[in-house]
Amino acid sequence: MASSEKDAALAATPSDAPTIFDKIIHKEIPSKVVYEDEKVLAFRDISPQAPTHIIIIPKVKDGLTGLSKAEERHIEILGYLLYVAKLVAKQEGLDDGFRIVINDGPKGCQSVYHLHIHLLGGRQMNWPPG
Ligand code: AMP
Repeated sequence: MASSEKDAALAATPSDAPTIFDKIIHKEIPSKVVYEDEKVLAFRDISPQAPTHIIIIPKVKDGLTGLSKAEERHIEILGYLLYVAKLVAKQEGLDDGFRIVINDGPKGCQSVYHLHIHLLGGRQMNWPPG
């Protein structure tokens, strides 16, 4: 991860306030949407870390600023987000594999406090991650 993104994550204040993703959901700022239904939105990351880098979010945040805030009522949407990640991976032709990432909190390098799944693919991933 570029240090500027780490800096952005460290500068971000964990909060339940609206984020840039609300503006994307409401089409107030442009994004490259690759999948949308009544519950979730998937769009291309503005700063891609792989040939395919897509962000998948719930349209209703319902307190899910990050995975660490998950409650039992979120189980269905959490499972659905992963299922959509699989659908989008297929749609993007990532048949040889892909990676799912959920950053949480400052130490997890989260910069946007609206739960989101990163779908990364199109190149060989490395392990361990940075
Ligand atoms: P995270 O660091 O896990 O919170 O991820 C937030 C991601 O949102 C980063 O990868 C950013 O590049 C991405 N991002 C921020 N603003 C936008 C935007 N306007 N459109 C698309 N992706 C964005």
